[in-house]
Amino acid sequence: MKLPITGACLCGAVKYEIHATPVGAGNCHCRTCQRAAGAAYMPALFVPYNSLIITGTYKEYASISETGNTIHRGFCANCGTTLFGRNSVTKKFRPVNAATLDDPSIYLPNMDFWVSEAQPWDTMNPDLTKFDKNFLHF
Ligand SMILES: [Zn+2]
Ligand SMILES: [Zn+2]
Repeated sequence: MKLPITGACLCGAVKYEIHATPVGAGNCHCRTCQRAAGAAYMPALFVPYNSLIITGTYKEYASISETGNTIHRGFCANCGTTLFGRNSVTKKFRPVNAATLDDPSIYLPNMDFWVSEAQPWDTMNPDLTKFDKNFLHF
């Protein structure tokens, strides 16, 4: 995978670069991601925490996960695009919304998680590993 991987929000006010090889990729079907993404799921690219370099002004929205951690979702204050997140518990990696990559075709998910909250109109690749809830617990 060619580095850095780049991405931006819809209006271009917030841009980011990923300077290390992602450590995972999967589609999150939880209700919170459904609302934040405005879609059936959030395509999440997990990148080493410090490899994500962000430019531009963004806001964060905090919500509490099922296990009691705080999930901060970063979004553009101008156009509202959900770009990336961070978890209050781990500094190892953070998710990036793969739909905001400049070349989203490089995203190769290998799992579906929070499948228990997926909508009946959602569609999934049957070949990917499925997790009822989160794929890991902090
Ligand atoms: Zn924007
Ligand atoms: Zn989710």
